[in-house]
Amino acid sequence: MTTPSLDDEARLRGREQALAARQRRAQVKAELKAGALNLPDILALRDDPVLSRLRIGEIVRSLPGFGPARTHRLLTGCDIDPSRRLGQLGEHQRQRLISAVLSMRGLSAPARLIVLSGPSGVGKSSVVGYLREHHPGVWFSVSVTTRSPRPGEIDGVDYHFIDQVEFDRLRDSGELLEWAVFAGNSYGTPAEPVRRRLAHGEPVICEIELQGARQVRARDRQAVLVFLAPPSWDVLVQRLTGRGTEEPEVVASRLVTAQRELAAESEFDVVVVNDSVAQAAEEIVGLITG
Ligand code: ADP
Ligand code: 5GP
Repeated sequence: MTTPSLDDEARLRGREQALAARQRRAQVKAELKAGALNLPDILALRDDPVLSRLRIGEIVRSLPGFGPARTHRLLTGCDIDPSRRLGQLGEHQRQRLISAVLSMRGLSAPARLIVLSGPSGVGKSSVVGYLREHHPGVWFSVSVTTRSPRPGEIDGVDYHFIDQVEFDRLRDSGELLEWAVFAGNSYGTPAEPVRRRLAHGEPVICEIELQGARQVRARDRQAVLVFLAPPSWDVLVQRLTGRGTEEPEVVASRLVTAQRELAAESEFDVVVVNDSVAQAAEEIVGLITG
């Protein structure tokens, strides 16, 4: 048997140390995500030899409510390069970052429009159902659609089910905040009820697809765009087929659209992974309450 050389031992020790460092950084990011650690806490650890290597972009993205687009907006506003490491951040930059996060949270307190999007079958309706049951104070926009009701869907609650003539009239008279054609049917958000609620300081959630989310973003910079993501592609396929509400060719067409929607994840302010309906819904409520 050969005994390990000093070089081998040093290499092994180095690998173990690198692994421990990676695990510690992952642990800190998980604590930030869970709210167990806040931004000033982590920024104060800039001299820690392991944590000083964390990139600022990674730190901000780990904060609850900060997805790729929001992180980018925040750091651009603070003039901080996301790839800068914690250990390289100056005192002024730290202060600027803390103030910017606080003011973004302040801005994002009440009376905002939350746009909930994500691929078909990811669980948007399930999350909305949970929110309706457990958070009756949150108001949901009820869309108009030309699609036929699924079993159990109620007119006026799940959708206003209308025909194409009525849809075209609403769209052409400017009564829709946004609209889109999805898998052969038209969908739109009636503008007036949304505007009325926001004007009264009530938060509003709209559950809409990608093209509609982009229209809202173009009109309302204050709206918060939330992307509900599946834990994996396979889970998404299982959920969509398992729901059993569409014919196989409609499922196939929705899956093609889903690929396009997943590719647009980085346009959203916040990404919520729907592992558990309750957890995803509570994360969204956290955005409303600030
Ligand atoms: P969407 O409204 O996004 O099209 P649905 O809410 O109809 O999606 O959900 C699609 C299917 O996945 C439904 O059968 C639903 O019960 C199931 N589902 C939703 N969220 C979860 C979850 N977190 N875990 C397991 N199944 C889920
Ligand atoms: P479904 O037919 O599964 O209920 O909805 C199909 C897609 O249309 C989903 O992604 C849903 O979020 C979206 N959708 C529902 N209402 C609206 C709406 O008012 N506007 C837009 N743009 N999309 C909507």
